[in-house]
Order: sequence, then structure tokens, then C-alpha cells
Amino acid sequence: MNNLFDLSGKVAIVTGAARGIGESIAVELAKSGANVVVSDIIPGESTAKKVKALGRKSIYIRADVSNEKEVINLINETMRKFGKIDILVNNAGIYKYAPTTSFSLEDWEKTIHIDLRGVFLCSREALKHMKRGASIINISSIAGISGFPDSAAYCAAKGGVRALTKYLASEFGKKGIRVNSVHPGIIHTPMTQQFFEDKKSINEMIAKIPLGRVGQPIDIAGPVVFLASDAASYITGEELVVDGGWIFSAE
Ligand code: NAD
Repeated sequence: MNNLFDLSGKVAIVTGAARGIGESIAVELAKSGANVVVSDIIPGESTAKKVKALGRKSIYIRADVSNEKEVINLINETMRKFGKIDILVNNAGIYKYAPTTSFSLEDWEKTIHIDLRGVFLCSREALKHMKRGASIINISSIAGISGFPDSAAYCAAKGGVRALTKYLASEFGKKGIRVNSVHPGIIHTPMTQQFFEDKKSINEMIAKIPLGRVGQPIDIAGPVVFLASDAASYITGEELVVDGGWIFSAE
């Protein structure tokens, strides 16, 4: 009997997979059977090692998602080593924050380049090789739906990812390729460590979350595995909010 969540024999690329949410996604995809290309700008061999320890194939390929040449190399190397791409998880991202009136143009452009252009570039190159049954999962944010304080560029980029997801879903649906976005709330990773150092502000955030806790990387990895699998074979263009109920209860 077919297990709808089984990813055996699939080839996945996860960007920003050296740590945090991306690392957890790589490991959980592997637990479901996928071979995983770990990509990042920082060393990602330790994630690749964890995937291999699960009996799957894995390599680390360094690529800055905002750099066209490096993205083309990531996709070409994946094709050369694995021969196909079934799953692309556009997870790499940065978060810059400041009040709008003091938000630097440099930080604006860096954020848009990595968080939005990176998703476009990786998707464009992977889609040249993806076949019926393949799937892209874009890690956006609740900031791409409802906004977040002092985060003009991040909100714009993540909102762009949400819209790009829906556009790509409509363009590639007829080819049997699904494209969905995941919108995490507050997840404890190196990116958000700064919030956790301020007990008062983190407790104020937790007070707004119906499930009464912040998320862990695995809380995002599970929904990504689901969206990548045949269990989600009739889901495309969807935005899956994974935030413990935060923005729903704020409405
Ligand atoms: P993180 O900073 O721990 O990990 C991000 C990874 O992306 C790092 O390994 C980093 O080296 C990599 N990266 C950064 N710039 C890159 C580039 N130009 N090219 C390739 N890789 C690059 O952050 P995280 O919390 O694990 O975030 C993962 C994703 O989830 C991001 O897209 C982030 O915006 C999104 N997200 C996180 C939260 C949260 O609360 N942590 C909430 C909503 C959305």
C-alpha cells in the first residue's frame, strides 16, 4: 500500500540548509526518503552528514541565492550528480529591521535580493528541469501577509514571495508542477536569537500566540514534507500559515 508521505527516490534541494529551519527541513525530507542537496553560503557539510546518516544521498553545494551564476551552478551540479529535481525548498533568507524612516537603501536592496530575487532565480532554474509531480515550497513569513514591526523590506520581500508563489502555481499547474508557500510565525533559530535575549519582548509575543509557545524548526519542516508529498497532490498556490494561531487570533 502506498504511503502518501513517502518521498523515496525523490531529489530535493533546500537552500539556506546549513542551520535553522532549512537544516530541519533537509533532515525531515530525508527521514521521508528523499535525497537532499544542501545549499547555503555558510558551510553545510554537517547537514549533509545528518542526511547521509539516515541512509540517503546528500551533497553540500555552496550558492548565494541572489547570485545568478551561483544559482545556475547549483542547479547544473544537482542535475549532474542526481539527474533530476523533484522538490525545491526556497528557504534561504535574511531579516533586517529598523524603523522605515531610518531603513537604509543598502539593507532594503540586500533583503529584496536574497529574500525575493533568490526565490525567483532558484525557481526559474529548477523549473527548466522539473517534471510532472515536482513541487516548489517557498518559505515566506506571516510578515508577508499581515506585516511585522520595523520590517519594511522583509514584509515587501515575503509578500512578493507569496504573490510569486501564486503566479508560478498558475503558470506551471498544467504541467503538473505544484508551487506553495509556508508562512512561519516566530520560530527559534539563529535568525530570531536576538528576540530571545530580551525575555520581556519574547514573553509579550508568546502571550499573543494561542498555542502558548514559539515554534521550533521542526514545526515548519513537517508542513514542508506534507506539501512536498503526494498527500498534497491537489494543493497548489496555497499559503500555509504555521504560527501557532498568532495572526488568525489577531484579526
Ligand atoms: P537562519 O538565519 O537561522 O537561517 C537562514 C539560512 O539562510 C542561513 O544558513 C544562512 O546562511 C542562509 N542564507 C542567508 N543568505 C543567503 C544567501 N544569499 N544565499 C544562500 N543562503 C543564504 O534563519 P531561519 O530562521 O532558519 O530562516 C529560514 C527561513 O524562514 C528564512 O527565509 C526566513 O525568512 C523564514 N522565516 C523565519 C522565521 C523565524 O521566526 N525564524 C519566521 C518567518 C519566516
